[in-house]
Amino acid sequence: MDAAEVVVIGGGVMGTSIAFHLAEAGVRRVVLVERDELGSGSTCKAAGGIRAQFSDEVNIRLGARSLEAFARFGTRPGQEIDLRRVGYLFLLSRAADVEAFERSVALQNGLGVPSRMLTVAEARRLSPLIEPDGLLAAAFSPDDGHCTPESVVLGYATGARRHGAEIRTRCAVLGIDANGGRITAVRTSHGRIETSTVVCAAGAWSAAIGAMAGVDLPVQPLRRQIVFTEPMPDLPRPVPMTIDFTTSFYFHGEGAGLMLGMSDPDERPGFALGYSDAWLPRLTEAIGLRAPRLLDVGLTGGWAGLYEVTPDHNALIGEDREVSRFLYATGFSGHGFLQGPAVGEVIRDLYLGREPFADVAPLHAARLAGDRLRPETNRV
Ligand SMILES: Cc1cc2nc3c(=O)[nH]c(=O)nc-3n(C[C@H](O)[C@H](O)[C@H](O)COP(=O)(O)OP(=O)(O)OC[C@H]3O[C@@H](n4cnc5c(N)ncnc54)[C@H](O)[C@@H]3O)c2cc1C
Repeated sequence: MDAAEVVVIGGGVMGTSIAFHLAEAGVRRVVLVERDELGSGSTCKAAGGIRAQFSDEVNIRLGARSLEAFARFGTRPGQEIDLRRVGYLFLLSRAADVEAFERSVALQNGLGVPSRMLTVAEARRLSPLIEPDGLLAAAFSPDDGHCTPESVVLGYATGARRHGAEIRTRCAVLGIDANGGRITAVRTSHGRIETSTVVCAAGAWSAAIGAMAGVDLPVQPLRRQIVFTEPMPDLPRPVPMTIDFTTSFYFHGEGAGLMLGMSDPDERPGFALGYSDAWLPRLTEAIGLRAPRLLDVGLTGGWAGLYEVTPDHNALIGEDREVSRFLYATGFSGHGFLQGPAVGEVIRDLYLGREPFADVAPLHAARLAGDRLRPETNRV
């Protein structure tokens, strides 16, 4: 008989972090099931941005805790992740955004995050590529930055295996058996695994996993794209993660050049994953406004990935109230990579019945059935 104490579904940053934290805590027979390769979902498509600058207190706590974990990643779980603490610089050109960021910075400071408001001149000194026209102010936190998603997945997967977890790739979950609100097994393309506990960490595909257990996880896939520039030998370094908050155009250093990204308001929910150039005119317009020097730099290609979006752009973290021991960590709406370390810790504690370091009760999926939406407004 194939049996597990916990089956974790999904081999992205969430699933591997959860498997690592459970196995490290001594949970026996943790089995992670990934239908493709580790990191092949959204995680290895991410821009790698990590930050604690959010508007929601829970996100600030999860971001700050993850930043600490990323800083110690070389020793626990033990992996080089090319961490760059270059800071996140939000450029603000609307008075309402300046007020909202001032409130967020005060909240962040109260939680120990060293963010601060900057003048436009200070922002330009930090990120000299920017054109200041129309800017009113900026917000910056030096602790934020970026690191490499595939290394983080590798580190957690290796650490999970070291502590006895089993990772099965090319193994798709096809169904979840439950009886009277209790899980009995997970059915996969490689057979049935007897278990009483499932953790859904299936990213943009989580609604389908939830439906297998009769659990509503309202997560929608939304395509997002990034592109890379040619090498820029004269680029002043370090380059902070620079975000033009009004247009959502952002860039950060990547190799010898830059990575560029932006949301596309024409994008509609769906699993389409092909890269398309249709967004480039809008991106070019945003570059022309905020970083016109980049118009002279060639692009070397890019890729598309999926955001896993909830109605209030905040994560779903918790345990279902009807189906016992169906836990979920999904719907990160564009900031799941950076929350991976902290959420792995939280799910470990929810499973073990310990109090997590942060109260994630407001992120329970049940909020979406009522009127307790919890919007995160500092979105990229
Ligand atoms: C272009 C882009 C840029 C981004 N930039 C950032 C950023 O800078 N910072 C940040 O924090 N976030 C960023 N994100 C968001 C981030 O990538 C995600 O929030 C995060 O990777 C989610 O991780 P996950 O482990 O939950 O999901 P995933 O990495 O998608 O993992 C889910 C896994 O579940 C597997 N799966 C699905 N169904 C099944 C099944 N039936 N059986 C078995 N396995 C299954 C999938 O194959 C997949 O590998 C970005 C996303 C994109 C697309």
